[in-house]
Amino acid sequence: MNITKAEYHGILLPNLNIGFDYSGTETQHTFISHAHADHMPRNRNSNVYCTKNTLKLMQRRGFKGEATVLDFNEPFDTDRARITLFPAGHILGSAMVYVESEEGTVLYTGDYRTPPSPASEGFVMPRKVDHLITEATFSLPIYRWDSHQELGNKIRTFAAETLADNHTPVFLAYNLGKAQEVMHFLSPLNHPVQIHGAGYKMCAVYEEAGIDLGRYSTYNRESCEGNILITTNSALNNGFASNVRKKRIAYCSGWASREATRSQLTVHKLIPLSDHLDFFELIQLCEELRPKKVHITHTPNADVVRHYLKQRDINSRFLDL
Ligand SMILES: [Zn+2]
Ligand SMILES: [Zn+2]
Repeated sequence: MNITKAEYHGILLPNLNIGFDYSGTETQHTFISHAHADHMPRNRNSNVYCTKNTLKLMQRRGFKGEATVLDFNEPFDTDRARITLFPAGHILGSAMVYVESEEGTVLYTGDYRTPPSPASEGFVMPRKVDHLITEATFSLPIYRWDSHQELGNKIRTFAAETLADNHTPVFLAYNLGKAQEVMHFLSPLNHPVQIHGAGYKMCAVYEEAGIDLGRYSTYNRESCEGNILITTNSALNNGFASNVRKKRIAYCSGWASREATRSQLTVHKLIPLSDHLDFFELIQLCEELRPKKVHITHTPNADVVRHYLKQRDINSRFLDL
């Protein structure tokens, strides 16, 4: 099986004429895993395939091209392969792409999360995979996530205590996926939420998919005080809620598990909520699946992952340019 890398997130199976999260023109069939900006196609001329919710989210982010919508678990045949999308648990719409061909099977995971994000369609893995292509963003044993139940409790407690203290809680969370996950965790509080416009645009797609985001509206500088506020780190630096004097800020990211993040960001609370799997979840998944080969991309520590896999007799390589 020939597997190569092209551009930042692009992966190609040249013999099968298939690309994953790829923006070039070298392949006929391009499968898009999810609507995060660095995975979205920039070229309008190739045949793009993705899930319904990924297409809706991409369109809200300005995608003007055509795309064929595929349902999860419904096989689709190209000239040289059979393709099935499996839910990836990362953000709404996120899919892993399973390829069956005469050369064997490939699973391209994109970005994924196990256990799945509660604001996604879940996570399902095919049973047999010859080649697993996986990112390894959090690829050191220092990354071990708390359960969603514990993280949800942390998020709600921070909001409730801050409000009880007459301060405005502000959550720093990426505007697609993480922001809606935080809103979903906050919804039992039934307290009004205001979210930055870039994140607000995505929320309707989540609600159409049946995910409870609580009571929310778009950010309004005049009326935001006393609401729970959600925005990205960069918007906060650009003056978001700068009129609110009594506020407390929580940073929601897998990177929050490093104490050093606190001084870099000057926040009150670090909540290690990730939409990627942690180091141990990754190793465990490889162990359960036992592919012939694991192809590791997008990691600062390929050697560490490869060492742990080798100890478990799992063949791997670092897939990079
Ligand atoms: Zn992503
Ligand atoms: Zn990504």
